[in-house]
Amino acid sequence: MYEKIFDGIREQAHVRDELRMGLVCDACDLGPCTFDGSTSRVPCGITPDEMAMKNLAEKIAEGLGEYKTHKRHITMVYDMESLLEAATRMVDVSRSYSDEIDKLLSPYRTVRTVPFGLGGLRPEAVNICAVSSPRGIHDLIEFTRTPEAAENIECAGAHGVNIVSLGYPGAELAYQRGIPCIGNYLVLDNALATGCIDAIHTFGSERASLEEALKHFASRKGPQCELPEPKMHTTGATLDVTAINRAYERGNIEGVVVLFGAASPTCSWHMEGLVTDLVEHGYLVLVTGAHMYEGSTDAMNAPGVVHIGFCEIGKMHGKGFAPTPFVLVPGWKNAKILTSTLALVHHGYPVITGVRIPLTPSIEEKLAEKGCITELNGERVVERISELQSHREG
Ligand code: SF4
Repeated sequence: MYEKIFDGIREQAHVRDELRMGLVCDACDLGPCTFDGSTSRVPCGITPDEMAMKNLAEKIAEGLGEYKTHKRHITMVYDMESLLEAATRMVDVSRSYSDEIDKLLSPYRTVRTVPFGLGGLRPEAVNICAVSSPRGIHDLIEFTRTPEAAENIECAGAHGVNIVSLGYPGAELAYQRGIPCIGNYLVLDNALATGCIDAIHTFGSERASLEEALKHFASRKGPQCELPEPKMHTTGATLDVTAINRAYERGNIEGVVVLFGAASPTCSWHMEGLVTDLVEHGYLVLVTGAHMYEGSTDAMNAPGVVHIGFCEIGKMHGKGFAPTPFVLVPGWKNAKILTSTLALVHHGYPVITGVRIPLTPSIEEKLAEKGCITELNGERVVERISELQSHREG
């Protein structure tokens, strides 16, 4: 599914090995600078640990920017506790945003099965891939249901309109409105190659996107390749923390694991196997993000896997979980995900990342002391969770 991505990763592998030997900073006109084992001084005089913290702070600044909040002089904060605290500035924004989207879309939500993957495209329908915000996609769905739009779609000879989405909004719209989620952003090339995507709706007018889609549909000659069978997965369940806590108190579940951002091509965890493993060990796995798993369910009083929409801290933080959820972060190389992850660490959630954050060993140790560790071997993740759980209970 992600052949082009993996080709690129292989091409870059040798460069990455070199980069891994040192830290790189490009924060001012005096750089770029690196500590690669053969150098020990940089013009501004910072140490390798400080460079690692500076790089981390730059990511946090970017992440806070996504939530329209900021912290002045953050790239000169060399103290881990202060940096983690700075990351939490996005938490309230995430919570109010999650609540706002939930208020808007939950009247449409019900437990149902939705297609995940390219099998969610329908050759006989006008397919529009919507990549705007959850609110923007909702507006598009509503527009295509107006009598005017319905008439135009019928005139075009299409069997309805099929709005699909991907990535973060795709995860939320599949959850709230039951539209197909075709994967994460990396799948878009493959989706276009099917020839079945009639338009991509971003942040423009809904009418213009539909017109473009109808025009493309009229000239379409059928799928360019065989589409996979739709894989149906359950989603749409309201998070029932009371039921979860009761199940935990009665010993029906070992605990709660949240998958924060559901998959990453640079993470070597075998996600399906990991989720199965967690469920077999008695965990309730709450999945946030654009991936759905075999055996997904709406039951929250037993071990299982439940999809709950997009990866926002507001989906889980402050909901009153009796067992603090363990948070698994398959890939962090997105400033928003990294900043959210560090905010969760500050709030006491044990976090395991599947991709190493480039830090010096001593900074990595400081982060581990705060509860954020990296485990590259997916087969060891359950064991690491058990260790953390024993530590917590002991
Ligand atoms: S290490 Fe110091 S001198 Fe070099 S780019 Fe970074 S901030 Fe500038």
